[in-house]
Amino acid sequence: MPFVIAEPCIDVVDQACVRVCPVACIHFDAGKDRKLYIDPDECIDCGACEPVCPVEAIYDEFDLPTAWRKYADIDALWYRDPEAARARVAALKDGGR
Ligand code: SF4
Repeated sequence: MPFVIAEPCIDVVDQACVRVCPVACIHFDAGKDRKLYIDPDECIDCGACEPVCPVEAIYDEFDLPTAWRKYADIDALWYRDPEAARARVAALKDGGR
């Protein structure tokens, strides 16, 4: 199961995870995205990113807190349709719960 970046990353985008990921599967578009996204098709489930996140935003998909389950779909969606993923992030963060 891939790792997932959940809500605490929004408007933080620290990128420590990007620097440690051995397969470079964490991406975002600077200036457009409010969080980072893990590519579930490329993630090798190594766990290197999880402890370096300063806001504890990263979880194995199985361990995602219930309130943040949607972020598994959102991370995957970004790699197919970034605008749709951004819209879901905005809705979740800005009151669309
Ligand atoms: Fe990259 Fe490993 Fe984190 Fe997957 S678990 S995003 S491969 S550092």
